[in-house]
Amino acid sequence: MKFQAPRGTYDILPEDQAYWRFVTEMTRQVCELYGYERIDVPVFEQTGLFERGVGETTDIVEKEMYTFRDRSDERMTLRPEFTAGICRAYAERKLHGRPQPLRLYTIGPAFRYERPQAGRYRQFYQVDVEVLGSQDPAIDLEVMQVAWQIYEAVGIKGLSFQVNSTGCPACRPGYIATLKAWYEQHLDGICDDCRRRYGENPLRLLDCKRESCGKIAEGAPRIAKSLCGACNDHFVQLRSYLDALGRPYEVNHRMVRGLDYYTKTVFEVWAEGIGAQNAVCGGGRYDGLIGMVGGPETPAIGFASGIERIILTMKQEGIEPPEVPKPAVFVAYLGAEAKDAAVVLAQELRSAGVGAAALWEDRSLKAQMKQADRIGAAYTLIIGEEEVKNGVVMVRRMADSTQTALPRWEVLDAVKGGGTA
Ligand code: ATP
Ligand code: MG
Repeated sequence: MKFQAPRGTYDILPEDQAYWRFVTEMTRQVCELYGYERIDVPVFEQTGLFERGVGETTDIVEKEMYTFRDRSDERMTLRPEFTAGICRAYAERKLHGRPQPLRLYTIGPAFRYERPQAGRYRQFYQVDVEVLGSQDPAIDLEVMQVAWQIYEAVGIKGLSFQVNSTGCPACRPGYIATLKAWYEQHLDGICDDCRRRYGENPLRLLDCKRESCGKIAEGAPRIAKSLCGACNDHFVQLRSYLDALGRPYEVNHRMVRGLDYYTKTVFEVWAEGIGAQNAVCGGGRYDGLIGMVGGPETPAIGFASGIERIILTMKQEGIEPPEVPKPAVFVAYLGAEAKDAAVVLAQELRSAGVGAAALWEDRSLKAQMKQADRIGAAYTLIIGEEEVKNGVVMVRRMADSTQTALPRWEVLDAVKGGGTA
């Protein structure tokens, strides 16, 4: 019997870990720099949470969720994103009772049944950042800056923001009416999906990925002209902050969320040259969502970024992450008695915080030295029968191949601080 990893999943092999370690570590550092606290929510939740929280008419809920019945016949879904779970926690754990706004971040896997391709998987990893309890446009900017600074910290260049406003329950219905009236003349030119959207969720006509639909959408009336005073002021203020910071951005009037509880700001960060999947992150304001999942009405904004796409972009730009630290010391031995001594010595070093590796396979000295080279050890400690008898250890400094016999008790001090671990 041979098994395969499920379609759309992959293994992060040891040689790929340097990227993952670097991206998650930089994320943690940047989030802490901005005062964001880590939260972790379950990998699966009640299906209804995502149906409400992500929206029945989204691609995610319509066709991408991994939903199953558990052994007590409850409908459960592997999280396709983090926002709904975090809002559930906010309401359920009464996080609204804490000083607001609450700044949160998390990192972990998400699941969507999609057609796998470069940068698109069925199990993928997201960095997710949310601020709950503020409607100040300076918070919108701050959240966007967190994303930007994470990409900067890993060395990605050539990024730009796409921004738009999706209005609010006060001004969006008027815009939707305008949009529908305009689309009445274009129903023949759009795809079947779009004809369905026309009835169910007209805003989503604008972000159809089909080229022919996209061309039509380009000519559609723009929401910017329909925004109410409050939404317009918010958007103007956000853009003036972006101008002040000199961030490259483009107002993308086709970027919409198409759900009532998404409000005002929406944004993405695009990287050049990662193909059709050029969005490294997507986010926006969702002032109506927390109320929808059982919490008090609370304005909020967040974004999620796919770690695979960050790494893909890094690789395209030739960015190499720092190496994962390796043991500083390799312990080599010859003979049974020397092995006993080597086992004890290696453990003493590790207990003292000095990384130590060994083969333990009774191999030739040559094979052991080769392994020491391979891991890039700063020192190789060699113990043979002679050394055991004299209570010494041969200390070989790999950088210049010098070798000194040191008394056993001096070895730890001699190798301390000699390597990366
Ligand atoms: P797309 O238009 O690429 O499908 P989306 O609008 O579905 O993106 P969001 O739900 O906003 O994406 O998720 C935020 C980010 O998560 C995306 O910008 C992307 O970096 C990443 N992402 C989304 N789906 C996948 C996936 N299937 N595999 C890998 N990364 C993904
Ligand atoms: Mg998608």
